[in-house]
Amino acid sequence: MYELKFDENLCKTCPTGDCLVKCQYMDLDKNVAIEEMVKISKGEDSFVLRDCVTCYGCEEYCKRGNHPFYLITEMRQKKGILTAPRAITKQWINIGEPRGKFKTGDIKKKILSFGFMAEFLQLVQGRLFDDVMPSYIFGQEFFCNVVYIHFANTSIIKERLPMVIDNFSKLGVEEVVCMHDECYGAFASLAPAYGMEVPF
Ligand code: SF4
Ligand code: SF4
Repeated sequence: MYELKFDENLCKTCPTGDCLVKCQYMDLDKNVAIEEMVKISKGEDSFVLRDCVTCYGCEEYCKRGNHPFYLITEMRQKKGILTAPRAITKQWINIGEPRGKFKTGDIKKKILSFGFMAEFLQLVQGRLFDDVMPSYIFGQEFFCNVVYIHFANTSIIKERLPMVIDNFSKLGVEEVVCMHDECYGAFASLAPAYGMEVPF
């Protein structure tokens, strides 16, 4: 199982507490910010686990290479602090389940990925896409699954994302252009944070 890389010591010696000081949804000073992050990293309770709206911002604000938002999400799941009713979370998890119905265009080394949202295909028009189309793909097998971070569920991401990365690798692609920024975040940020190798 993949484990999040998070260094509690980086928080203990943090000069800014920027992750939570800059959070747009809480009003915290540096000392409280650092104190709460250290508590969360030790598995202790924190109001942050309830107040976080899953905006992802603190992943950008931390300049020390830690992963505050992923940690908050991990701890929420461990403590059962859910962000949506269980039935809705389950419904969403079912939506992303691979079902062998993916569709591809003319696959080249560079590919445009729509996640599982085929509706985007009609938006792809004009010169911006000349160097990639008609090399495209969509379907649950190529869906990054990072949406589940908003449901405080990293388990399903850790289970499915390595398979998704593997599916891209099997196509032999070298560059993936993501229509959705969260998919880009999955491959460029979340996967490395959990030690998953991304060969494209
Ligand atoms: S997560 Fe980053 S910014 Fe936040 S306290 Fe830790 S090291 Fe500092
Ligand atoms: S992800 Fe949560 S804690 Fe981080 S900046 Fe957004 S609301 Fe604040």
